[in-house]
Amino acid sequence: MLGGRDLRKTIEKNIDKLHEDLSVKIDKKNPDRIHAIEAAGCTRFAYYERRDPVPTDTASKISGLIGSAMRHSLSNARGEYKVDSLSLEVNADLVMGDEFVVRFEIVQTLPEVPHPRHLLYLNACLFAFNKDEGFLIYMTAEGKTVEFSMTKNNRMFEEIIRRARVLSTLLKDNKVPIVEPSELCLNCKYYERCYARKQVKDESSGFILEEIFKNKK
Ligand code: SF4
Repeated sequence: MLGGRDLRKTIEKNIDKLHEDLSVKIDKKNPDRIHAIEAAGCTRFAYYERRDPVPTDTASKISGLIGSAMRHSLSNARGEYKVDSLSLEVNADLVMGDEFVVRFEIVQTLPEVPHPRHLLYLNACLFAFNKDEGFLIYMTAEGKTVEFSMTKNNRMFEEIIRRARVLSTLLKDNKVPIVEPSELCLNCKYYERCYARKQVKDESSGFILEEIFKNKK
């Protein structure tokens, strides 16, 4: 019979394997191949993931598995768009005939407007698969959904190509991209590399507040 620790190790090993099998495949050694997921998100994060990665914790792996498993159960079509020596790679969840591309995003709460990085990514899929219309479907773990549609947009595509080029150049030059402050930073495993953080102890925080307000009395 498996002991508690062995059982935990076995579960973690299986989660690691699933995470590896289902994650987006990125050619991390080739700076001329940039995945749109890297260019649409924080490029500093993408740089660290290629050059000096911190292991992903088990809780984050599990929360990412729902989206990854769903993508693999759909068509998860791989495509790319070449601009000179740079290849921008994409994975689309569904490519429907000659018509449109669908991308799912698993979220905790449904957004009122689509997130710009999700639009940048879907737009890159439209160019890679040469389609004119795309659907972005947000879904919660409880199955609630909201859909947004978009049409192919040249300016947004120029922006993701610009970001991919910057990442590609910085990878070749071994230079870390600048910090990109956003809500992603709050749960990012590289937070401490990007921001100095020192928490004020509870007992002294009252003292700081007192100092701030004492001259206002
Ligand atoms: S903390 Fe923010 S800026 Fe730093 S790598 Fe993460 S997402 Fe990017």
